[in-house]
Amino acid sequence: MEETNLEQTPLEPEKTQEQGGGNEEESRILEFFEYREGIQKPNLAEKLTLLYELTKIDKELAEIDEEKGDLPEKIGALTENIETIEKIILEDSSKVEQFETEKQQLIKDNKAYEEKMSKYDEQKYSAKSNKEYDDIVKSIDVYIDLIQKNEARIKEIESQNSVVTKDIEERTAKNEEYKKDLEENKEMLNELNTEFEDEEKELDAKREVLIVKLDDETRSLYERINSGFMKGEATAIVRKGNCSGCYNSVPPQREIEIKMAEEIFTCQSCGRILIDESLVPNN
Ligand SMILES: [Zn+2]
Repeated sequence: MEETNLEQTPLEPEKTQEQGGGNEEESRILEFFEYREGIQKPNLAEKLTLLYELTKIDKELAEIDEEKGDLPEKIGALTENIETIEKIILEDSSKVEQFETEKQQLIKDNKAYEEKMSKYDEQKYSAKSNKEYDDIVKSIDVYIDLIQKNEARIKEIESQNSVVTKDIEERTAKNEEYKKDLEENKEMLNELNTEFEDEEKELDAKREVLIVKLDDETRSLYERINSGFMKGEATAIVRKGNCSGCYNSVPPQREIEIKMAEEIFTCQSCGRILIDESLVPNN
């Protein structure tokens, strides 16, 4: 600011006369730069006012979020649930398939064993010695054992398969309910999105205009506080020594510093950025 004044009122009056037109041009350029500087680097008081305006926009955005309620979270949770259940159904289905393959093999084996058994059975009557007869009977017994073992396994498979199949049916039915629920929630959210689309776009655009004027540090501080449950409430006014966000008192020395607006302070109780009442006259 001092430098600007020096340039505008040069020490040598002669020079001023000589460069009258030039000076006009110069001050116009200076004005332009001052203006540009104002946009790019607002002083801290201006920055705080900007943050206050930003909070008002974010409050409106938060209200829209509230209208949408927990629909986005619900949709997320339902989608996840459905995917998990579908994965289990797929695993169970492949289990059933494996069991079925095993069962078919056992049936096939048993058929072969029975054929061999009946051949031995025929040979039994043409045995030429007792030993041969006993050997044939022993072979038949081996096949009877094998067949019985396979039949037991088939029963086991069938009972396991009926349990898994019932699980699949139950899970499929449940998933159908979830899917219906998901569709309903999606539809509701879509309706709300359409309803608020224009308003949100407008607010986002307004927000962008303000946010580009802030330096990175201030912006990230603001966004950090504005995220989550503090959305639309990242700044608070200091009124009669209290934070308007949490109603806790601000120490008198801090209150003075906040009024001076040379540094950004956050509330020691709630973490909101504190702005002196005088900076936001129409709050
Ligand atoms: Zn507070």
